[in-house]
Parts: sequence; structure tokens; C-alpha cells
Amino acid sequence: MTEAPPLLEVTDLVKHYAVRGGVLRRQVGTVHAVDGVSFSVGKGETLGLVGESGCGKSTVARSVLRLVEPSSGSIRLNGQEITGLSKAAMRPHRRAMQIVFQDPFASLNPRMTAGDIVGEPLSVHGLASGEKKQQRVAELFRQVGLRPDQMKNYPHQFSGGQRQRICIARALSLGPRLIVCDEPVSALDVSIQAQVINLLIDLQRQHGFSYLFIAHDLAVVAHISHRVAVMYLGRIVEISDKTELFVNPRHPYTQALLASVPVADPKARRLTPVIEGDVPSPINPPSGCAFHTRCRHVMDRCKVERPTLAEAGGGHQVACWLNEGTGRKG
Ligand code: SF4
Repeated sequence: MTEAPPLLEVTDLVKHYAVRGGVLRRQVGTVHAVDGVSFSVGKGETLGLVGESGCGKSTVARSVLRLVEPSSGSIRLNGQEITGLSKAAMRPHRRAMQIVFQDPFASLNPRMTAGDIVGEPLSVHGLASGEKKQQRVAELFRQVGLRPDQMKNYPHQFSGGQRQRICIARALSLGPRLIVCDEPVSALDVSIQAQVINLLIDLQRQHGFSYLFIAHDLAVVAHISHRVAVMYLGRIVEISDKTELFVNPRHPYTQALLASVPVADPKARRLTPVIEGDVPSPINPPSGCAFHTRCRHVMDRCKVERPTLAEAGGGHQVACWLNEGTGRKG
């Protein structure tokens, strides 16, 4: 019996942007936003994608959804290649993949009622109209913890958390198989963040869809994800089962990220120093291991040879020369 393909399979995804300058707008450089990223998301699974601002995680999200065109690489949804598909051929796949953005206010049309916003995809895809559409929208409102009588209200009449619930209801309206959550709780108060995360977990249990969950907050990622991928300067440097990654981080960048999570006890001593300095420019990324300019374990080899993701045992993969010989090679 052949094994079913993962819901989403991304292989060697690259997204470069040209930097133009001068009177003739000639290309003077290249932004290496995403530089050879590979991962998969199983059915009903949540893959967390973490990293500092500017590491390329949002570009990965937009490339997966074909909101930006990848420079190269493969994206397969349910085993079918979707890179290079025309707008018309992408249409059924658009129904299967939805996104929830970071800023719920900016992603909602202030001139439309909440009910019209949630019902719009149903009209655009010709799935429901009239009374049937109203009933479906009311049901979606209930599913995300809003009242159907709030359908007539406008976005400014809702709180931040309620606005994100509207965005989630809109994403649910087409019955997606994959929801890309791009920093969905970063703009919310901490007390509201947990409610929205718990809602996303409950909805996944009910509907069985998958999440690609992008965040810079490790605590949030730890709560919702089954597996976690850590990105640095356009590349995945570590990917593993969530518990294994948090208990046994192997890449110095992951270790530093975990060490930078605030602890409540001021007397507690950190075993790993907090990471220092900024992420280097993706226009001119460092040679060899891109992390070598900030790594406390840097060796001569790291400055010239780029490590690739290699198996460290049990599906835990790490791109670091320190990992060499600790597991099977990937
Ligand atoms: Fe540090 Fe070298 Fe590992 Fe890169 S390859 S993370 S520079 S030890």
C-alpha cells in the first residue's frame, strides 16, 4: 500500500527579490528572502515556523499561498504541484488554503459589515447566496464564539480579539484543508492571545484541517504546534517534534532563541547567553553558515562551508556542523 502524501510539501523553495538602483533602474543586488526551504505539513497537523523579524517566514507563507510567485522550488498540495498554475487552475486550491493575517483591523474592509465580510468568499466562489448564505454565516459566527446578531456590525464596533475571530470565520467559510496563520495573535493583548489560540486548537479538532503557524513568540508556538521549524535568514536551521525541540534544542540559534524567552525569576541563571546583535542583511548574507556572525561556537569551517539539514535522530533535523556525526545524514 502506498503512503498518502502530506497535505503540503514544500521542496527547495526560493524567493529572491531584485534590488534596483540608479537612473536606469538596473539590478544592483538581490534580497535572498527565502533560500532553499523544504518542509511538509501532515493532515490535521500544526507546523510552527519561528524566527526573528526578517528571517523570511512571512515570505514562505505568501509563497505557499501563491500570493507571491516563488523564484524556484516545488509546492505540492495533496500531492499536486501548484507552482506555475494559472489563476483559473489555482481556483480550487485557493478554496483549500486560507490565511489569517497578523493585523485583523487592516485585513477587514471597514465599509463592510462583519456578516458581509465572512459571507463574501461564499459569493465569490458561488457556494451560497440569499438565506442559505446568511444561515452559513450565522453558523460560522457561532463556531468562532461570536453572536449571529453581530453580523450587522462593522469592524470598528468589535474588539481586537473579536476582529481576529471574524478573520478566522472568513478563513473557515470555504472549508479549507490548510490555514496559514501569519502572526495571528501578535497584535492582541496577552489575555486575548490565549483565547484565540485555544479557539484555533478547538476548530482544528472539530474540522481536522492543518495549520502552518508563523510566529516569533516561542511560547505561542509551543502551545499550538505539533512540530516546529526554526528559520534564520531565509533557511530552516532546525526542525523537529515540538517537545524534542524545546527539551533538546541542537542548533545554537534555537538554543539562543529559547534562552531569550523571559523568565519570571530574576535570580534564575541562564545556561545559554541570550543572542546578541541583529540579523544580517538578506541582501548580503554571510558566507558559509549564515549564523556564523552571531554564533558562540563558530569554527573556521563555518565561515566557508554551508551546513545543510541533516538527521539527528527521530526526525529531528539540524543544519549545523556541530551536529555532524550525531545522527544519520539526511
Ligand atoms: Fe555555529 Fe558553525 Fe553551527 Fe553555524 S555551523 S551554528 S556557525 S557552530
